[in-house]
Amino acid sequence: MSHRKERPMENDVPTWALTRRLLGENARQHWVGYTVGFVLLAVSSAMTALVAYVMEDVINNVFIDPQPAMVWTVAISVIVIFVLRGVTTYAAAIVLARIGNRIVADMQLRMFERTQAQSLSWVDAQDIGDLVVRFQTGVTAVRQAIQVLVQSVGRDLLTMAGLVGIMFYQDPIMAFIALFVAPPAIFVIVTVMRRMTTVARTEFASVGRLIGMVKEVVLGARVIKSFRIEQRLAHDMGQVVERVRKLNNKIARLSNATSPIMDMLGGFAFAAIILYGGTQIAAGELDAGSLFSFITAFMLVYEPAKRLGKFNVDYQKHLVGVRMVYDILDTAPDSSERMDGADLKVREGEIVIENARFSYGEQAVLHDLSLTIPARKVTALVGPSGGGKSTVLSLISRLHQAQSGRIAIDGQDVSAVTTDSLRRNVALVGQDAFLFDTTIADNIRMGRPDATDAEVEDAARAANAHDFIMRQNLGYETPVGEGGGRLSGGQRQRISIARAMLKNAPILLLDEPTAALDTMSERKVLEAIERLMHGRTVVVIAHRLSTIRDADVIHVLNEGALVESGDHEALMASGGLYRHLHDTQFRSDA
Ligand code: ADP
Repeated sequence: MSHRKERPMENDVPTWALTRRLLGENARQHWVGYTVGFVLLAVSSAMTALVAYVMEDVINNVFIDPQPAMVWTVAISVIVIFVLRGVTTYAAAIVLARIGNRIVADMQLRMFERTQAQSLSWVDAQDIGDLVVRFQTGVTAVRQAIQVLVQSVGRDLLTMAGLVGIMFYQDPIMAFIALFVAPPAIFVIVTVMRRMTTVARTEFASVGRLIGMVKEVVLGARVIKSFRIEQRLAHDMGQVVERVRKLNNKIARLSNATSPIMDMLGGFAFAAIILYGGTQIAAGELDAGSLFSFITAFMLVYEPAKRLGKFNVDYQKHLVGVRMVYDILDTAPDSSERMDGADLKVREGEIVIENARFSYGEQAVLHDLSLTIPARKVTALVGPSGGGKSTVLSLISRLHQAQSGRIAIDGQDVSAVTTDSLRRNVALVGQDAFLFDTTIADNIRMGRPDATDAEVEDAARAANAHDFIMRQNLGYETPVGEGGGRLSGGQRQRISIARAMLKNAPILLLDEPTAALDTMSERKVLEAIERLMHGRTVVVIAHRLSTIRDADVIHVLNEGALVESGDHEALMASGGLYRHLHDTQFRSDA
C-alpha cells in the first residue's frame, strides 16, 4: 500500500567510480571485441572528418575552377568515404551490441543466483515490484549505459576530434573563435546532469512501487473484491501514477533542455565564423574552399556535440539502473549457509531445543525457550497465534538462526552441520502449498530429482493425489500454472505431501497443513498426512482437536515461552492455558 515508501538506493558511489567499475569489469572479459569495435569506430570517425576535408576540393576544383580529372577523383573519393563510413558504423554497432547483450545475460544470471543465495529474512524484506524493476529495467539500463558510453561517447568524441582537427588545419584562429561556445555548453550540460541524477533515481523507485501494486491487485484479488477496497487501491495507485507522471515531465524538461541551449550557442559561434571568415576572404587571406570545408566541419561537429550533451543526461538515467543492479550483486550471500562441517546423521530423530532466543529485527519472539521433541513420535505445538510456533519450525530447519541457545538433532547442533544435510533430513509442509509453474510430475519430483516415474506415482497414491491427477487432461504432465493456480488448495496440498513423501526425510515439520482447506479436502489431506507421518519424528502446529489429541506430546507455547507440556488428558486435568484453548479455540471435527 502507499504507506510503504520507495526504498533508498544503497549503492551511492559517484558516477566516475561507477563508470570505471562498469567498464573495468567488462573490459577484461571482452577486450578483443572492444578493440575491434573501437577500431571500426575510429575508421568511421575518420571518414566523417574526410567529408569535411574533401569539401575544399569540391569548392575550389569542382565549382569555382573545374578541372575534369579532378571532378572524377572527387566524386569517386566521396563514394568511397560514404560507403566506408556506412559499413564501419554498422559493423561497430553490431560488435558492441553483442558485447552488451552478453554482459546483460551474465548479469541476469548472477543477479538470480545472488537472490537465491540470500537469507529468508532478506527475501521476506523484499518488495517484489522493486526486484522486478531491478531485474528487467535495471539490467536493460546496464546494456544501454555500456552501449551509450562506448558507442556515443566513443564515436562522438572520435568524430569531434577528427572534425576539430580539420577546423584547425583550415584556420587555427577561426577554430579558436568558433570554440568559444564550448565552456558555456559544458557548464549547461553538467548542471542538467546533476539535476537528472536525483530525478531519475526517484523515478525508478516509483516505478518499482507501481509494479508492486499491480502485483498486489493480482495476488490479493480475492481480498480486494470481498472487502471492496478497489477504490482505496485505485486512489493509492492514482497517487503513484501521478508521481511517476510528474517525474517523467521533469525528466522530459531536463533531457530536452540541452539541445536548444546548444543550438543557440551554436548560432553565436556560426555568426562569429561568418564575421571572421568574411573579413579574411575580403583580405585575401582565406580561399572559399577552405572556408566551406571549415564550415562543413563546424556543422558536422555540432551534431555529435549535441548528442554528447544529451548523452550525459541519458547516461545518468541509465546509471540509476546500474546502481540498482549492483545493489543486488553486492549483497553478501546468506552467511548462515554452511558448506563445511560435518553432515547431519539422523539415527533416531530426537530434537532438543535449549535456551533458544530469537528476534526478528527488534521484535523479540522467543525468550529462552527449551523443549524436547521425542524421536519417531508426534509432537503438537499449540498456543495462541503469534506465540512463536512457526518460528520454532524455522529454527529447527535453520531457515532462521537462533541468536543464542542450541538446537540439536540427535545431539548435533543444527548450526554446525552442513545446510545441505540438514535440509535433506527435514521436510516441511506448510499451510498453503507452493507449486512451481511446471507439470504435476515435476513438482512432485522436486522431493527427489532422481525418482522414477513409478516412485512419483507411488508417492502420489500415498498422498491421495493419484486419482485427481489422472482426471486432469494430461495426467502427471498437466501444468499447474503460476503458483499452482490451476489446482484447488487441497489438491496443491496433496501434491506437496507427495513431494515430501518422495523426499522421505526422517524429520517432518507440519505448519497447520489443513488450515486453509474446507472439510471435504481436509479429510483427504489428513489421510495423506497420517501416512506421511508414519515412522518419522513429527512436529505439527495444529488447531484441530483430533490432531492435537492424537499427538504423543503437546507443547503449549505462549508469547515465546513454553508454558505447559504433556498429553491431552494430563493438560486437560491441569486446567491451564491448554484447557482454556480447548474450550475456546480448537477446531473440533465436523
Ligand atoms: P505462531 O506460529 O505461534 O503464530 P510465529 O512464530 O509465526 O507465531 O510469530 C511469532 C511472532 O513473530 C509474531 O509476533 C509475528 O508477528 C512475528 N513474525 C513472524 N514472522 C516474522 C517475519 N518474517 N518478520 C517479522 N516478524 C515476524
